[in-house]
Amino acid sequence: MGGEKKYEAVIGLEVHVQLKTRSKAFSGSRCGFGEAPNTATDPVVMGLPGALPVINHEAIQQTIRAGLMFNCDISPICRWDRKNYFYPDNPKNYQISQQGLPICLGGLVEIELPGPARNIMGLHRSVKLNRIHLEEDVGKLTHYGDHSLIDFNRAGMPLAEIVSEPDIFSADEAAACLNAIRMSLESAGISDCDMEKGQMRCDVNISLRPAGSEELGKRTELKNLNSISGVRNAIAYEIKRQREVLEGGGTLRQETRRWDMVQGVSEGMRGKENAQDYCYFPEPDLMPVHIIPEFIEKLREELPEPPFVRQRRYMEQFDLPYTITSVICFDRTLSEFFEKTLTFHHNPRGNANLIINDLLRELSQNSLPPGDMGIQPKDLAQLVKLSDGGQISKQAAQDVLVEVFRTHEDVDTIIRRLGCIQSQDPAELVAICREVIEKNQKAVGEFRSGKTAAINALKGQVMKVSAGKANPAQVDSTLRELLR
Ligand code: ADP
Ligand code: MG
Repeated sequence: MGGEKKYEAVIGLEVHVQLKTRSKAFSGSRCGFGEAPNTATDPVVMGLPGALPVINHEAIQQTIRAGLMFNCDISPICRWDRKNYFYPDNPKNYQISQQGLPICLGGLVEIELPGPARNIMGLHRSVKLNRIHLEEDVGKLTHYGDHSLIDFNRAGMPLAEIVSEPDIFSADEAAACLNAIRMSLESAGISDCDMEKGQMRCDVNISLRPAGSEELGKRTELKNLNSISGVRNAIAYEIKRQREVLEGGGTLRQETRRWDMVQGVSEGMRGKENAQDYCYFPEPDLMPVHIIPEFIEKLREELPEPPFVRQRRYMEQFDLPYTITSVICFDRTLSEFFEKTLTFHHNPRGNANLIINDLLRELSQNSLPPGDMGIQPKDLAQLVKLSDGGQISKQAAQDVLVEVFRTHEDVDTIIRRLGCIQSQDPAELVAICREVIEKNQKAVGEFRSGKTAAINALKGQVMKVSAGKANPAQVDSTLRELLR
């Protein structure tokens, strides 16, 4: 409607990811995901009197690696703070976190927005990060009617909190940002980022402002969203709600709202605390940590290629299409497997096709433990090589792969058992072609009178007589030769 003010949405994300470490952030207790409740704890985690925290080197290392994935500046010195609040999932009444001097500052997350079609690359841009800091997770409360139970296994697990600048402007961009964070961290072995398992959780901050304005509006915060579709829906709902309030002449207040996934609505919980309400103060039991440049450089060198960089390389170096690279490049195991196959047979398109069409189907149908690809890169490469060389058909290569998953025999044994080596004896093939021409004079007549498609009927007959062992390209050329 004319005269109506246009609003622009501004979004900032706070993403918590559970870091892959052997023990907890500030104690030697193991990280017990999925174990019996309250078995992976210790006096530090429980906040028992006299128990003192110690820094987990591996947790700092993983946080630095996360920062390097997103081109953050790594602080030469970082420090620990207590964030004080009372809640039953947190027996110490404070959480060890980092306020003033986090491990990583700044940084950029490269995101890809949906393209005009699924098989076309979308627009890329970067979302600015504010910081990444390390903190400890809290216990897990489960509510049952009139009582609640608590499991402290999760308490003390290392969490990296990735805080974006208010530099995201739609639900699509927020979803793309979460996806990019997940793919980068997962591919570098920093976190498994499984949102269903709570390994990645997201707080969304949303405000509206008149389009073109530089100033930020009053924001609401939606806490602990645990799926990307949840984030999308919550943002869409919240933008609409805020717009209606503003257009109705109302005012918004800074508040924390709860997203009700089932009803698809957000509801007010409480006015949002400002940082001073937590009475942050320096953690007296932990020394600041100096991070030396040599250590950072070593981690930088060992870091795997970020997923979008890998995708661009695959498209250029291997001339692979966007559709194939977007399946392979965002899965580290898959891209390592693919690159390994190339060392045995360098047909990027052929190897990739067998991987994404056949291997992925078999993997999803045979629930194998993570990391188990069910076939060696060398064997998959050999199947493509044999089919490229005409010794077996494309179909046979696919059939053998299925058999590898079914019987766990090696590729050579299966090829011999199925008898799928194509007959290469030209004399034998010529004899079969002659016989087929003899018996199918109608098709021969049609072919000679210009209906060239009639050759397909003859080819089919030859393949049948040769029991599928003939090489289709050879059959074609032999028939044409004889019919001339
Ligand atoms: P807190 O830690 O108290 O939640 P921060 O100032 O650290 O607050 O900001 C948290 C997140 O909220 C950041 O991702 C930031 O980009 C975002 N944010 C801050 N102000 C706004 C705003 N007006 N609109 C949208 N997002 C905002
Ligand atoms: Mg917050």
